[in-house]
Amino acid sequence: MERMKSSPIPLTDSEKTRLMREAIAEAQLGVSEGEAPIGCVIALADGDGAAKIVARGHNRGVALKRKNAHAEIIAFENAGSDGAGREPTLPMDAENIILVSTLEPCVMCTGAAMESGVSFILFGMDAPADNGTKRVKPPESPESADPVIEGGIVAGECRTLFVDWLKGKEGTEQAKFVEQLLALTETDGSDETDSGDNPDHKQRAADKT
Ligand SMILES: [Zn+2]
Repeated sequence: MERMKSSPIPLTDSEKTRLMREAIAEAQLGVSEGEAPIGCVIALADGDGAAKIVARGHNRGVALKRKNAHAEIIAFENAGSDGAGREPTLPMDAENIILVSTLEPCVMCTGAAMESGVSFILFGMDAPADNGTKRVKPPESPESADPVIEGGIVAGECRTLFVDWLKGKEGTEQAKFVEQLLALTETDGSDETDSGDNPDHKQRAADKT
């Protein structure tokens, strides 16, 4: 069954950059707590090129002693009710949901986004060894989504988070993932001044580069 994709992502470039900077700030908050530098925000598009952030999350694997406490999963947890009366900030019937992550989501988080009805996934730097957004086939069940995916948003700043995080941790067990990530993204055009306008990274889900 061919699923309809909503396209293009209904955000101005400046709004994409703003959302990614919010995700970067969330990643920095995680670093201050001793976590890996990955941040995420969930937003709802307003139809006029902007979006309202309804939830935030950063990696919490260290705090929760759980390998799957990824930024995106934490953001979804923060977006829902706590089962004790807290109102969800992401309504069950929300449309035009945008997931914004500083790093390309893994298979789990890409799958979680599809299960959550996310229409648009924006991410910063590529995760070539993981490649989650290309390894997940969208479900065909009626409440799931086949999101439009765009990477390379403020990718240089997202990568710098890892460069800074690695300082002093080189060669440690904890650093292996980051060392590989940085090695694999060294020549992909990400640089400190990347504003996310690199056309090579646009609409990658559509034209699978
Ligand atoms: Zn993940």
